Amino acid sequence: METNFPLPLSQDTFHELWNTVVLSTENESLATGDGLLDLNMDFWENGELPQQETKNVPAAPMVPAISNYAGELDFALHFNDSGTAKSVTSTFSEKLTKLFCQLAKTTPIGILVKVEPPQGAVIRATAVYKKTEHVAEVVKRCPHHQSEDTSDNKSHLIRVEGSQLAQYFEDPNTKRQSVTVPYERPQRGSEMTTILLSFMCNSSCMGGMNRRPILTILTLETPEGEVLGRRCFEVRVCACPGRDRKTEEENLEKNGTKQTKKRKSAPAPDTSTAKKSKSVSSGEDEDKELYTLQIRGRERFLMFKKLNDGLELMEKMGPKKKQEVPAPSSGKRLLKGGSDSD
Ligand SMILES: [Zn+2]
Repeated sequence: METNFPLPLSQDTFHELWNTVVLSTENESLATGDGLLDLNMDFWENGELPQQETKNVPAAPMVPAISNYAGELDFALHFNDSGTAKSVTSTFSEKLTKLFCQLAKTTPIGILVKVEPPQGAVIRATAVYKKTEHVAEVVKRCPHHQSEDTSDNKSHLIRVEGSQLAQYFEDPNTKRQSVTVPYERPQRGSEMTTILLSFMCNSSCMGGMNRRPILTILTLETPEGEVLGRRCFEVRVCACPGRDRKTEEENLEKNGTKQTKKRKSAPAPDTSTAKKSKSVSSGEDEDKELYTLQIRGRERFLMFKKLNDGLELMEKMGPKKKQEVPAPSSGKRLLKGGSDSD
């Protein structure tokens, strides 16, 4: 039971540690302000909890809320209907509340309010993993795309295009990243303003999103960070947004009709035959695709491996759904006796 991390045994060590933590933050409101380090020293010497709320900015929540909230200003979003043509680089599905877009391609999003927000209000975009088992992890770009980029905000997945006023944040406590842009009143004769977002990794990026679905949260906030309205939508960043939107909408419809049988008996000619040719990349055969998971620590790795070996074994023993499908290559290992050895 040895740990390689030196524990803060003396005040000096803790001071150093604490100061590094504070200084490395990107949040200017915390990192500037000369009194801050003194405050932290005081905290250590007095043994009291730090007063983080000295500024009137609300602390970021551990897990951002993902409920839609129109608020008193009736905050809403508008997406262009770009359809599902092959050439489309960004398209929004109202049915799925999901944006499909290509890597680094711009998506215009209309911002609508019924009542004008206070001076200095901002729109903030934050990405969060959709599934509960991933929600604690911060959404960031994959190492590969980060290393290719030289900009200051290279680790940010979401980027605001076309504005010099965009500001990139990393919360010092949760490490969640977000980008803000000042709210602008619509131009005369227009009912909304448009912001331009782009997503700088594919959903499939290894070491990044790793095929885990994400939500984008857009909040309208006062300059003090109070949320006036919130809208969420799922995002898939992929090579063929039009095709994937079409596939997912069709799947939704199929599943819907299975339950309700409401649809007219349209024969839907392309379902079974056309599907086979697309099945590899259309995202519906996720249970056959191979994924890579990076696990910290050997002990934990062995635990996951044992679990995975068990599941693979179960699948082999259990009733086969389709006999003609060959076993996935990861399952080729011979399974004799204890599977967790080595
Ligand atoms: Zn990437």
